[in-house]
Amino acid sequence: MKIAVLSRAPQSYSTQRLRAAAAQRGHNVKVLNTLRFAIDLTSDEPDLLYRGKQLSDYDAILPRIGSSITYFGTAVVRQFEQMDVYTPNTANGIQSARDKLRANQILSRHNIAMPATAFVRNRADVRQAIERVGGAPVVIKLLEGTQGIGVILAPQVKVAEAIIETLHSTNQNVLIQKFISESRGRDIRALVVGDRVVAAMRRVAEGDEFRSNVHRGGRVEAVTLSPEYEQTAVRSAQIMGLRVAGVDMLEGNDGPLVMEVNSSPGLQGIELATGLDVAGAIIDYIASQVDFPEIDVRQR
Ligand code: ADP
Repeated sequence: MKIAVLSRAPQSYSTQRLRAAAAQRGHNVKVLNTLRFAIDLTSDEPDLLYRGKQLSDYDAILPRIGSSITYFGTAVVRQFEQMDVYTPNTANGIQSARDKLRANQILSRHNIAMPATAFVRNRADVRQAIERVGGAPVVIKLLEGTQGIGVILAPQVKVAEAIIETLHSTNQNVLIQKFISESRGRDIRALVVGDRVVAAMRRVAEGDEFRSNVHRGGRVEAVTLSPEYEQTAVRSAQIMGLRVAGVDMLEGNDGPLVMEVNSSPGLQGIELATGLDVAGAIIDYIASQVDFPEIDVRQR
């Protein structure tokens, strides 16, 4: 097949690994800078230009859209979808996953367990929302934060109120979330490809930090998931419309609690932790879908 990896970081570990895995399997692979596309709406047929030239035919794309270019990046992905080029992650899926509130709303309708979460805007509603999710200590999250930035643990209700009011005054939307203390600074990242988990790791926070992000100094270890965790991860990705996803779960007393579904999961941490060829699994899945597309109208 001819496949394009949409990425602004051709030198990054993930992009390099995906390119190498595709080339190794005999596919024709290009890395294209998402921001160099021009969407052409002038003709009858949907079209795309790349670096000012007509784009050649591709069988599939693999979008790796960073959060800073969600709007333009998903517009490009949507254009590929309209041109009938296969993408494991649809524009809608990427957009829904990017917004933590929207993702929570979609998942909760499908009975995926998540930490209790509230979303309010008026000052008068803040205290009650904190109490409703279980009181202090409480987690406060910026809607579009990544890498643990914008995730705060407030030890007391008064502090939480002050933080939330400050963020509201600068026009930022925040989620108020129950602090899952039993997870003790650990979480699970499951890499879902198609309808299975191809690799999983546990991230463990550094010292007294409660955020386990590797960018916050967390370390990683390979982990074998129970069927309950596997099914939760696969279902969450499918509900979000993502065939390639990193599903983050806290280990709650009653089982997995989904925090986030990431549409462009990094491959470095999980490949190094598990020694598995995740890039190869992603490319193989895409090739199987291009050769034998699933009968699934949502994919089209
Ligand atoms: P980001 O998208 O920035 O990584 P997350 O929502 O994944 O933000 O939170 C970052 C980290 O903080 C998680 O990996 C987890 O370790 C910790 N964390 C987040 N929410 C909670 C919570 N409700 N209870 C306990 N720990 C949490």
